[in-house]
Amino acid sequence: MKGGERRMLRCAAALAAICVLLVPLAAEDDESSIVYRAHANESAKIALTFDDGPHPHYTEEILSILEEYGVHATFFVIGQNVEYYPALISRIQAGGHEIGNHTYDHCRLARQSAEHVREEILRTEQTLYELADYRTKLFRPPEGMFSDSVIEAARALDYRVILWTIDTRDWDHTPPDQIAEQILAQVKAGDIILMHDYIGYDSPTPEALRIVIPELLARGFHFVGISELIGSN
Ligand SMILES: [Zn+2]
Repeated sequence: MKGGERRMLRCAAALAAICVLLVPLAAEDDESSIVYRAHANESAKIALTFDDGPHPHYTEEILSILEEYGVHATFFVIGQNVEYYPALISRIQAGGHEIGNHTYDHCRLARQSAEHVREEILRTEQTLYELADYRTKLFRPPEGMFSDSVIEAARALDYRVILWTIDTRDWDHTPPDQIAEQILAQVKAGDIILMHDYIGYDSPTPEALRIVIPELLARGFHFVGISELIGSN
């Protein structure tokens, strides 16, 4: 090996060492500025979120319950379902709720390229705009799984990545009283609560909402959309 090549190798090794040091720090910094699991505040604001709809099975029932109690929530919708049920998007909008992007077909993103993630986000963004004249900059990756590619795509498209602090496991048919108990035992200002307005059949979500919403209102919590939550003090 010639001296020049050796020097180049040493340079490459030194560069690699610097990269190893820099990349995790940069990733952490990037991530923390656009990923939200909660947003602490002093005004008792919390956010209910519903994933995987819209769907006639439960979206309408959940909207009626929210309306009955006068509370607002955020619906993270799947683009494909928006195409199937655009009238439900209008109902969500009419109720004063917020809408977020939950990919076009609910594909798992953790191993996908940034380009693929970008396509998933943009296809749903376009669908929401074309069918409902609605624009959102909130994104929730399916199952909350994300990688650097997800962060990269979300950042490039100016989205915030919204996760949660309380997983009610309603998708697993957890009984309504257990869901309620779990929420009420740990809820605090700033929490983002994960629920679903589509799980196929026998959803415990509507009944759980009828238990927790009045109790949380009685405790002085304010239900707000995600944008208001993450923009508040
Ligand atoms: Zn989902």
